[in-house]
Amino acid sequence: MTRVAVVTGANKGIGFHVAQQLLASCTVVILACRDASRGEAAVRRLSDPKARFMQLDIGDEASIATFAAAVEQDVGRVDVLVNNAAIAFKAADPTPFAGQTEPTLKINVRGTVALTDALLPLLERSDAGRLVHVASMAGKLRQVSRKRQRDFSDPALTTEQLLSLADEFAADVAAGRHKAAGWGSSNYGLSKLCVIAHSKILARKYAGSALRVNACCPGYCRTDMSSNRGGRPPEIGARNAVLLALPDCGLNGEFVQDEAVSAW
Ligand code: NDP
Repeated sequence: MTRVAVVTGANKGIGFHVAQQLLASCTVVILACRDASRGEAAVRRLSDPKARFMQLDIGDEASIATFAAAVEQDVGRVDVLVNNAAIAFKAADPTPFAGQTEPTLKINVRGTVALTDALLPLLERSDAGRLVHVASMAGKLRQVSRKRQRDFSDPALTTEQLLSLADEFAADVAAGRHKAAGWGSSNYGLSKLCVIAHSKILARKYAGSALRVNACCPGYCRTDMSSNRGGRPPEIGARNAVLLALPDCGLNGEFVQDEAVSAW
């Protein structure tokens, strides 16, 4: 049986290992990477005819549209989408906190939501669709005020309202009032909180259908993002996303960490 997976940011780190591990349960694994030479090199490293590279920059609307059209034309549907691509400014980066907000939200939140929107019609064609957002334990609800926690976990929250909350955070950061306004002190953490909230919105929307939507934290892994400081090999961290991508995974609307359901 054909099973098509798309993994974003699969040229290195956790995404590469997610793609590698999905080769066991999928017949096509698309490594969706923004840089062609890095993406093609990753496919060569996998050395498996089921793996293929396709260009995708989730920060570029035109790239997302071209990618979705090419996937539809090439394979006709998507059974697994692992939204792994993300950025994190290094602690030593001289860019001021306020200057890091928009770039972080643009890729981690708006890019993830836009790619998901573009591929949902193809995921809906699967009889065991699995949508996985690679989030982080940094995206836990407790980083924001009680009121904001209620906003993000409101079962009636829509994607549009979620994106408005992200905009509100950015405006409050720009105005220098984000702490007083009940936000946390991490652009990356807020971006991952939004990603988890988005997975829950879609899980509710698709409840009862063949599509399951979950988010996960890979744990603190040795990758470029962590400057190779993480204590966990990326191939172990990747297992969190992979278990949520399997056709027999019955979870929906959960946050998984250390390969078990965890509280948000
Ligand atoms: P890396 O920095 O090693 O890899 C990130 C990947 O995302 C790269 O392939 C990168 O491509 C890609 N990417 C970034 N921006 C874009 C874009 N605009 N379009 C397409 N691809 C893009 O990170 P990790 O492997 O460590 O992280 C993977 C995921 O795990 C992320 O979502 C991260 O937030 C999450 N995570 C990681 C943890 C860790 O300890 N490492 C802990 C918790 C969560 P390129 O090579 O071109 O830059």
